[in-house]
Amino acid sequence: MKKRGTRIVFGIIVLILFCVYSYFRISTSPRSRDVGAAPSPSQAVESLPPENGDAQPSEEPVETPEPTLDPNSPAGRAAALNLPAPPDIDVTSWEFMLANGTHSIEEYAPPELVSVEGLQFDSRIVDALNAFVQNTRDQGLNVYLSSAYRSYSDQAANFQRVVGNGYPDGKTSAGFYVTMPAGCSEHQTGLVCDITDVYYPLKNSSIENTETFKYMSAHCQEFGFILRFPSDKEDITGVMYEPWHYRYVGVESATYIMENGLCFEEFLALYGVE
Ligand SMILES: [Zn+2]
Repeated sequence: MKKRGTRIVFGIIVLILFCVYSYFRISTSPRSRDVGAAPSPSQAVESLPPENGDAQPSEEPVETPEPTLDPNSPAGRAAALNLPAPPDIDVTSWEFMLANGTHSIEEYAPPELVSVEGLQFDSRIVDALNAFVQNTRDQGLNVYLSSAYRSYSDQAANFQRVVGNGYPDGKTSAGFYVTMPAGCSEHQTGLVCDITDVYYPLKNSSIENTETFKYMSAHCQEFGFILRFPSDKEDITGVMYEPWHYRYVGVESATYIMENGLCFEEFLALYGVE
């Protein structure tokens, strides 16, 4: 009897264990089905990111130009001012030497000076200057080369003379330079020429009414020259309007400067020269 009772108890235990096992198996498999089903929605969600993924590539082309337009690059600085990309130049090259009220070139002198019509120039601009002058004369205009290279000591004497004529610090009452202190005059670079008309040699703003000025200021960039001190840039150049002072910077840069209405300081600022 005991054996039989033991078998029954054992049989009940086995039955209970089977029921428990079956319960967990059933309750686990639907869950695993849920988990199996869950990936579908999550795959559906994941199938959205690919769409977002489609959106990301479309964002990438927007992001791609940004690295090329580094805000600290010449093109980036130009874009911030709504200007086209400036020429690819070496701003430390001789054509871009800056001399102004805040940039002294000390006692610099051009490596080689060449005389043209009694004035001296840096030899590197002579061909361009001759072409510019000849082209203007070919129009029947009366070009007069008024002033070019001045040495440091020439400029020192010139400055003292102008100060003696009633321009304290070499400036007008409006605070703009009539002439620069020695070391700060662009004439010391040998890269400039004051150009007037044979029949209108006075250097004042009325020279802009001459045909010579109208032609030369419209075509200077074709020969690599810029009008260095425009009327609307006195606050930036620090120099009064000088419709006779042309500066050589090379054709590419001169074209960019004149077509975009910049002064030399604004142009150099695009390359980080402040
Ligand atoms: Zn000048």
